[in-house]
Amino acid sequence: MSRPRVALATVAAIVLAGLAVSGPARAVPSTVVSLAFDDGLASQLAALPVLSAHGMTGTFYVSSGLLGKGSGYYMTWDQLKAVAAAGHEIGGHTRLHSDLTALPLEQAAGAVCDDRAELERHGLHPVSFAYPFAVADTRAEDIVRTCGYLSGRTVGGTAAVALPLATPYLVQTPAPASATGGLAALEAEVTAAQATGGWVVLVFHGLCTTTCSGASTTKVSTLKAFLDWLQARGTPVQRVGDVVGGTAPAPNAAPTTTATCDGAPCPSGWRRTATTVALAATDPEGRPWLTYLTDDGSDPRTSVARWQYQAPYPVTRTTTLRFYSRDQDYRGERPRTLTVLIDGARPAAWLTAPAPYARLHRGSVITLTARATDAGTGGARPSGIAKVVFRDGSTVLGKDTTPVAGTARYTLRWTVRGSTGTHRLTAVGYDRAGNVRTSTVVPVTIGS
Ligand SMILES: [Zn+2]
Repeated sequence: MSRPRVALATVAAIVLAGLAVSGPARAVPSTVVSLAFDDGLASQLAALPVLSAHGMTGTFYVSSGLLGKGSGYYMTWDQLKAVAAAGHEIGGHTRLHSDLTALPLEQAAGAVCDDRAELERHGLHPVSFAYPFAVADTRAEDIVRTCGYLSGRTVGGTAAVALPLATPYLVQTPAPASATGGLAALEAEVTAAQATGGWVVLVFHGLCTTTCSGASTTKVSTLKAFLDWLQARGTPVQRVGDVVGGTAPAPNAAPTTTATCDGAPCPSGWRRTATTVALAATDPEGRPWLTYLTDDGSDPRTSVARWQYQAPYPVTRTTTLRFYSRDQDYRGERPRTLTVLIDGARPAAWLTAPAPYARLHRGSVITLTARATDAGTGGARPSGIAKVVFRDGSTVLGKDTTPVAGTARYTLRWTVRGSTGTHRLTAVGYDRAGNVRTSTVVPVTIGS
């Protein structure tokens, strides 16, 4: 008789061990409820006193880029932080509430990862994600996983999710809470789950007190009555992240691309010669990366004119390059801009006054006048005239850096001096890249 008892005890031990490894969800009664509040709506703040009165916590999925927007429609960051401080879970919902299946891959990854990074920057550590518009596909699931989330939630599709979770990145829920369904519908979702047991994630959107407009709003009094009911029947309420369990992996960080010009840091100012721009990317996780660039100012993430960087790019005239890198999981950095300013063309300069062979009287004051214009390389924008230097032979008489408004005319007031006889006056134009041109000589005679 003792042998069967031992065998039964062994079976019991195995079952208990199975329960232990599955986490807290299996240690509680067969049905567990999570309360999800989507979109970071300010009206959901009305749920806080109701939840705390019941000793319950919820999961608030927010789009970080919408916080503070809509003239009070969305929560502010401060309000969201108060929600987190009250013990509720903050989850991600993409930066701007985007349909991940409708975005190009790289933007979809940015919408999820950037949102999570933004929440992290504000001291929140989201591990749960909800798909906006409840649309997901395997690509979106991969993105949510590689961005460091432990679960991805849709809306609808089931009465209860079996635990332990088979598909943490495709968590289904009953139909969302609605004003039309009211308390009876909420209670029905929980009682329907009782047959199979499991996890019931109830999704709320707006909350209202008196006049409730829109099907996806719930009366605060309905929420309160529902929580009373849950409490009375002893159904445990847990945050989504607590049911899913686990530790969040490090989020996938974007690569960083740096540019060099002829092997050195690219100068910010003008240069006179062509250069070769090389791009190099590093990824914090060492995931292989791809670098894309454009030279027409368009966005290298989406432009039809972009190309994949494979070899250094020779720049022969002033060019604006935009580039960015993404890793194999489509985590991309913000595009960077590098403008290489090239002006290898000499300016033009003429001394227009005094006139050739003019007779100048020593000690008199005259105005030397020059005209100077600049040209760029390959028809590109020139660097512009930096200064015009006036000379008598090799003697510098002075300079002018600012043309007469609206003209290309540069002037210098000069008190005529020097030996009597013939002098050779010139104007020397300098552009900002350092190109120089000396004008034709204007011979003058200085007399006493
Ligand atoms: Zn939403």
